[in-house]
Amino acid sequence: MTKGVRVTAVDCGPLNVEKGILMTGATGKIDVPSSVYILEHPKQGVILYDTGINFNVADPEAAAKYWGPGMREAFGVKMTREDAIDRQLINLGYKLDDVKYVIQSHLHLDHAGGMCHFPNATFVVQKNELRYAWWPDAWPGLVYCFNDYKDTRGFNFLQVNGDVDLFHDGTIKLISTPGHTPGHQAMIVRLENRGPVCFAADTAHLKEAYQNMAPMPYDWNTEILSDSYTRIRVLENAGVPVYFSHDPKDFAEFPSNGEWAD
Ligand SMILES: [Zn+2]
Repeated sequence: MTKGVRVTAVDCGPLNVEKGILMTGATGKIDVPSSVYILEHPKQGVILYDTGINFNVADPEAAAKYWGPGMREAFGVKMTREDAIDRQLINLGYKLDDVKYVIQSHLHLDHAGGMCHFPNATFVVQKNELRYAWWPDAWPGLVYCFNDYKDTRGFNFLQVNGDVDLFHDGTIKLISTPGHTPGHQAMIVRLENRGPVCFAADTAHLKEAYQNMAPMPYDWNTEILSDSYTRIRVLENAGVPVYFSHDPKDFAEFPSNGEWAD
């Protein structure tokens, strides 16, 4: 049993999507996870990085109301009710109130869907992401679902701006990686045995997209994104392993479902 932080991944929204949605110019369909990371910090308790897709989306009729007509089909959602973050936590033996912090990489509908389950947690979000999600530009607005956060005005938000060492103990660092959205943030976790590990969320949607510097059609600003690719590249060059939330191989390689990285 480690005295440090430990992390496990769960898939809170398996998708079967056109690869061209994830990487401009790609063709065919691909099965991808919507990764959520559950962290245990020895002093701070249970922490989530992202919250996946909302439980309503598991049901086609409820999804049409929650996401809007045709959206569930467009994203090839394959999730069941058991895939939603509330059930994932309960199945791993947690109570929902065990979650003390929720770090949101960004607020798109495949990442912010479980915010409703944690009204007592502290949400760590980049300030400009929160503002943008409430009033996005028209076309990226499609991938922000207002239902995910319209009832969160009373929640406790830690609105950070830029890079932050969350607990000032070097265990969890958030780094600003805008481009996919205005306030996207990646997370670097320092594990006792593995050393630093980077969770880059949607800085890119597939490792090959990042390696080829190929954006996806819903990226908010591709010039700013290329600077964020470089931030991730610097980490990789330093030997830090990088995991993207929708890369199937990254999900398969990282300990999941109660198997821990420590
Ligand atoms: Zn995503």
